[in-house]
Amino acid sequence: MMFRKLAAAAALAIALGSASGLAAAPPKPAPLTLLISIDAFRPDYLTRGVTPNLSGLAAGGAFAEMRPSFPSKTFPNHYTLVTGRRPDENGIVANNMRDEAHPGVTFAMSNREAVKDGTWWDQAQPIWVTAEQAGMITAPIYWPGSEADYHGQHAHYTSTFDVKTNSQARVDMDLAVLDKPPAERPRFMTLYFDAVDTAGHHSGPDSPELGAAAAEVDAAIGQLLAGLKARGVVANIVIVSDHGMAPLSPDRRVFIDDILTAGTYTTLDLGPIGTVYPAAGHEADVEKALLAPREHMQCWRKADIPARFHYGKNPRVAPLFCLPETGWVVTTHKSRPPEKGDHGYDNFSPEMRATFIANGPAFRHGVTLKTFDNVDVYPLLAKLLGVTPQPNDGNLADLAAALTK
Ligand code: AMP
Ligand code: ZN
Ligand code: ZN
Repeated sequence: MMFRKLAAAAALAIALGSASGLAAAPPKPAPLTLLISIDAFRPDYLTRGVTPNLSGLAAGGAFAEMRPSFPSKTFPNHYTLVTGRRPDENGIVANNMRDEAHPGVTFAMSNREAVKDGTWWDQAQPIWVTAEQAGMITAPIYWPGSEADYHGQHAHYTSTFDVKTNSQARVDMDLAVLDKPPAERPRFMTLYFDAVDTAGHHSGPDSPELGAAAAEVDAAIGQLLAGLKARGVVANIVIVSDHGMAPLSPDRRVFIDDILTAGTYTTLDLGPIGTVYPAAGHEADVEKALLAPREHMQCWRKADIPARFHYGKNPRVAPLFCLPETGWVVTTHKSRPPEKGDHGYDNFSPEMRATFIANGPAFRHGVTLKTFDNVDVYPLLAKLLGVTPQPNDGNLADLAAALTK
């Protein structure tokens, strides 16, 4: 019925167009949804006077300090942002993981084979797969998980992550996809910058190097905005970071080899989080030593991790999990002293806060939202794309004040 009415209206429009000698105008393409991640970009970096483009987008759109999911690490949070499921539910529970379903394999960001293996990423459906299933072209370039198939489905445009590609070249990669013929252009696209994260680790969140990296990424964003304008691309731009950055000091170390006996355990992550696997036959003594109360670090059996972290049910979470106080690290006497900054800590720590900026026709101007959990970004993306979201942990109502309608 609805279809017949529309068909009649279209026929009338065509008749009117030909009667007046005018061709019917081609329909305007729907706005591009452009999701940009600036790894480890803390909200306070916007106040350092080096980010005119980002600050302009925030002022002309919506801004919030966003709470990352736990643990405040890169891969878990990137997958949360595009699935709306917390790490315990989306399966990317850490940057480094083991799984009995993958005997002898350690998932790590540097393990290219694992990063491309869809069976690590198949516990939650990323937004680009939902959009592709709805008939859209997507380009989740450099987004963690985009190099893998999801149950056999792949995004239209992807690229093998190369850390050496500089910020400007990453922008050029995206613009090149937008130069495709109209029928081959994406409705959803991502862009990822790691320069700010690298500077935060190497030089610390309060260093001049951090300011220089923030300025570099801001300039790349400026180049992107100019590129979109030159191409007449209308976009809803959502800029996020995955977590913040805490300053470290060699004076703030907890030594796990002072707590546990060599040969009774192995670790996978050490630093802002510690993941511990007791050796066979040593479960009880390793547990007893780790679970004893101590200053600057708390450890739990995975089943006893406090509920507010929403963490510990997934088989990929290590049996024993340690969380140092923010700014402290768990390490060994043999390890190098810590870098100047790190993340992974309690996702409620102010230092771990992430950034949210949204700008475009879907967003009101000059809105500052209350802090929300990063699981809310996914239902926002679904709304921008007009697709039905998969079951998720987010709530679009938290962002309603930012939307024009
Ligand atoms: P983190 O160790 O949590 O600080 O992770 C940040 C690092 O992850 C950055 O140095 C990035 O270069 C790296 N990274 C980001 N995306 C990818 C990816 N898709 N594949 C491999 N490494 C990545
Ligand atoms: Zn990160
Ligand atoms: Zn990092």
